[in-house]
Amino acid sequence: MKIVILGAPGAGKGTQAANLSVKLKIPHISTGDIFRSNIKAGTPLGKTVKQIIDNGGLVPDEITIEIVKGRLSQEDCRDGFILDGFPRTIPQAEGLELILDQMGAKLDYVLNIVVTDAAIIRRLSGRRICPDCNTGYHIDHDPPMEEGICDNCGARLIQREDDSEDTIISRLNTYHDQTEPLIGFYEERGLLANVTGQYRIEDTTNEVYKVMGIKE
Ligand code: AMP
Repeated sequence: MKIVILGAPGAGKGTQAANLSVKLKIPHISTGDIFRSNIKAGTPLGKTVKQIIDNGGLVPDEITIEIVKGRLSQEDCRDGFILDGFPRTIPQAEGLELILDQMGAKLDYVLNIVVTDAAIIRRLSGRRICPDCNTGYHIDHDPPMEEGICDNCGARLIQREDDSEDTIISRLNTYHDQTEPLIGFYEERGLLANVTGQYRIEDTTNEVYKVMGIKE
């Protein structure tokens, strides 16, 4: 199964992708995670993209497409994959079509998780993550047992630098300008399925399963 998950930042793409990855036994590929791990490791790629990401902009298409191309050529992607946060622009979507053509593959589903801007702002500003094991929390909806401490590994939780209020607004603007046009792009290709991401995580998961004919 080859799946793309679309949606604004904070719509819940990562959560749904992680769940589907376990359910379908196919890799979850998040370009945001790839960039963040490069930043953390201080690689040349990390150094190139840090400022862009901290400001809420987009990493240039050529760089992003190359990374995804390399990742999709790995053995574990042969039977399927879930792309989370890629494509984010029309040129990236065209790049993905080319990569898939070369692999003799096609997308099966593009799931678009729909959430209002107001909910996104509330959600992202309360988000916290563990810098060591990557577990996500929310100060209101999913707090850790001890405030500021990861339940899983005991590390001190942090706020992603790009989850600050100003950066959230610029990420949302970037989403509306550059990523939202992908909805029409995939609608034209008959691949798009909208699911609501406004309410509980389980509600979205159930909708996703329904669209894809997956039994719980
Ligand atoms: P995410 O974790 O998906 O919210 O991504 C965090 C940040 O990484 C984004 O705000 C962008 O700066 C960058 N990024 C992630 N995926 C892409 C992409 N497909 N194209 C360009 N930039 C990206």
